[in-house]
Amino acid sequence: MNETDGYDFLYKLSYKSGPECDFTGSTREEFDIWKAQTLEKVKTMFGFDRLQSVPYNAEKLESEELVSAGGKEYTRELYMLDTLEGLKMPIFVLRPKEGNNKAALALHPHGSDGKNGIVGIVKEAIKEKEARFGYSYALDLLEKGYTVFCPDMLGAGSRKPISTENPEKCDCTAINNSLMSIGLNLPGVTTFELKRAVDFIYEYGVDTDDLLCIGFSGGGLATLWLAAVDERIKTAYISGYFHSLRGTLLHSNFCGCNFAPNMWKIVDLDSAAMLIAPRKLYIETGADDTLNGREGLSGVMELVDKVEYVYKDIFAADNFKFKACDGKHKWYGAFINEF
Ligand SMILES: [Zn+2]
Repeated sequence: MNETDGYDFLYKLSYKSGPECDFTGSTREEFDIWKAQTLEKVKTMFGFDRLQSVPYNAEKLESEELVSAGGKEYTRELYMLDTLEGLKMPIFVLRPKEGNNKAALALHPHGSDGKNGIVGIVKEAIKEKEARFGYSYALDLLEKGYTVFCPDMLGAGSRKPISTENPEKCDCTAINNSLMSIGLNLPGVTTFELKRAVDFIYEYGVDTDDLLCIGFSGGGLATLWLAAVDERIKTAYISGYFHSLRGTLLHSNFCGCNFAPNMWKIVDLDSAAMLIAPRKLYIETGADDTLNGREGLSGVMELVDKVEYVYKDIFAADNFKFKACDGKHKWYGAFINEF
């Protein structure tokens, strides 16, 4: 018992205060009511009612002809999209010369120099990280014929107001501190910006019937929330980011991109995943990933069981797959051959 350093205080309070939106029903009707109410609360939490959408007004800045490691010829285009008034988001489009016209939105992790690291532009400073975490999913999907869209998320890559010189660092916490001080938050702004990227993808001329959103670590975080609030994402693949929020308390996931005021009071991440049901959802994690939280894999499995219940018992859908892979925090690609 330690009443001075705040840990016990926060631990007890965090378990006392919610989440208000735990799904406890057993019928489709109850689920639909729960989903509508929960979505409203999540959108309010993210500040969507205070964010004004602007036309994305895509401007093509670069176009380069390249050949992938697997010998696939492709074009890498760089576009700039308007997302909010006064805010722009760069996005790479990897377009194979001979593809299947399917589309994927690939979201980068932290420390990858934003979108650069996942499209193979690997600076010396992140080479070791790239090898350790192996975040190859954008290029894996390109090899399979997908057109892959890779934006820089706010606080990373080319979108850092502070640590501009260090490709490994992100500015999430500083940006989120400022956003929260004006009543907004980073996961909300990021999710809202990514919705503009989805607008762009839908009008780009690719097949969006089975639009995939995929991401590892911080990219998994963004995938989870985007798919939760945007039904246009038809398949979500989350790698290395699925845990109980309370399980991470003063333990892991300290970066600002994880936090919005009242988030823990409203939902846990099983609820975010349930909002994706019955659309296809793949989640993988390393059995020894420290991002699994204090309880490790057993804590993750409690959430997985609840999500599985919604898919199987409420929707009779076989669309949710989870795999615990043997190892630590890294991209495993356990389901990549499903695409
Ligand atoms: Zn972050």
